[in-house]
Amino acid sequence: MSDLQSRLRELPQVSVLFEDERLAPLMTGRRRGWMTRVIQGVVDDLRLELREVAGPVRSRADLVEVAVGRILARHRVLTGKSWTRVLNGTGVVVHTNLGRSCHPAEAAEAARQTALYNSDLEFDLSSGTRGHRGRAVEEKAALLAGAEDALVVNNNAAAVWLAVRHLSRGGRVVLSRGEVVAIGGSFKMHEILAETGCELVEVGTTNRTSLEDYREVLQSGTTVLKVHRSNFVVEGFTEDVTLAELADLCRAADCPLIYDAGSGALHPYEEIGLPSGETLLAEDLAAGPDVVTCSGDKLLGGCQAGILFGGGEMIAGLRKHPMRRAFRVDKTTLAALDAVLTRYLVAEDRPALPTLDQLARPLDQLEEKAGRLLNELLPLAPAGWTGAVVPGRSSVGGGSFSTASIESRLVRWKADKARLERCHQRLRMGDPALVGRMNQDGLAVDVRTITEEELPLVIAAFKAAWADPPSEAGD
Ligand SMILES: *Cc1c(COP(=O)(O)O)cnc(C)c1O
Repeated sequence: MSDLQSRLRELPQVSVLFEDERLAPLMTGRRRGWMTRVIQGVVDDLRLELREVAGPVRSRADLVEVAVGRILARHRVLTGKSWTRVLNGTGVVVHTNLGRSCHPAEAAEAARQTALYNSDLEFDLSSGTRGHRGRAVEEKAALLAGAEDALVVNNNAAAVWLAVRHLSRGGRVVLSRGEVVAIGGSFKMHEILAETGCELVEVGTTNRTSLEDYREVLQSGTTVLKVHRSNFVVEGFTEDVTLAELADLCRAADCPLIYDAGSGALHPYEEIGLPSGETLLAEDLAAGPDVVTCSGDKLLGGCQAGILFGGGEMIAGLRKHPMRRAFRVDKTTLAALDAVLTRYLVAEDRPALPTLDQLARPLDQLEEKAGRLLNELLPLAPAGWTGAVVPGRSSVGGGSFSTASIESRLVRWKADKARLERCHQRLRMGDPALVGRMNQDGLAVDVRTITEEELPLVIAAFKAAWADPPSEAGD
């Protein structure tokens, strides 16, 4: 018999594993169906490994132990929650991979209430008849942005698609070559446009687009799209058309204009520590486009949503689009967004929202917080580790604000590179996990994106990562 055959002969059969006393209790009732598939998968993987990795023949008993261990681990994962809280030490405030904006407590509570109980989602309580889903929230959004009306959809990608589809109806859509953007891994403007069935007409060049470039291709009814450059800047020999110039041209040529504002701010950028030069949604709308779209969970500081702003008739038309149903948001989203917009409405100045709070946090506060964190951690640090509070820069992130960064304070650790990396991995594997910033200067935690309440959790996370015995093994 070949080596391979003798190795495979010891592979436990699925039916044998069924009877294992550790697995049998997990397989009663309807759970047997999916657990059978889990066991089958583990056995298949094991067979593949035995085929591919030559090695000594392992006993049946040994392989049963391996299989049962893996099946139990898989069961634990599948019956637990599939997400982990993360302490954001990256300094990227709107971190798309970490879930963008955190909700204020009222928004989370509002979402919880609407999730737990029935509500008047599409019901008019005074008349006892069918009501309009989301209209009250949309009124608040429109008022804040200075638009006649607004429409809430699933995200900004859906908002752009809907606006383009509704206005172009498969016809030509004009876009500057300098604005054919990609946001994150899956939002590519030209792909979204292709899916609307429109014919994309690119004008200008990557670095220069003039009003003349637009004028040359416009015919009455041609849809024009302008896109905020969000995550990059064009420098050097450049030329751009402002939204107001383009709106004037489009009005004269009888062409509808859509503006994808990307982040969409309702509060002045300069007042949250960001460089000026960016416009508010109200200013975008005042420039005169027919529709403005933005995200709900970037600088707005709310939940995942896309908001379309425009005139009453325009929004009414969009609201009637057949695909709108496919893009509509859940009641928990509407409730959370409602609470966030209410914060804007009741605030005399900057609304109390985690995203804006983090961005606006003054440097002396960050310095003080970083100092406290360092002092707590220093006595816990293993030999060979040095920590310091150092200046660094936070960023808005989320593809929401070009390359702008804000001065911040980091607690930075230096040690042997392998140990730093192992520590960072342990921090990421904790619950809550801690994601910091790792580069040639060391392992850093930007305190801008760590709240006061989270400081003890950060300390506990480092304590656990440093105390874990294997972390020093082999050093
Ligand atoms: C972020 C962004 C999008 C995508 O928004 P989602 O809400 O993530 O769908 C689209 N356009 C611009 C300019 C953006 O910055």
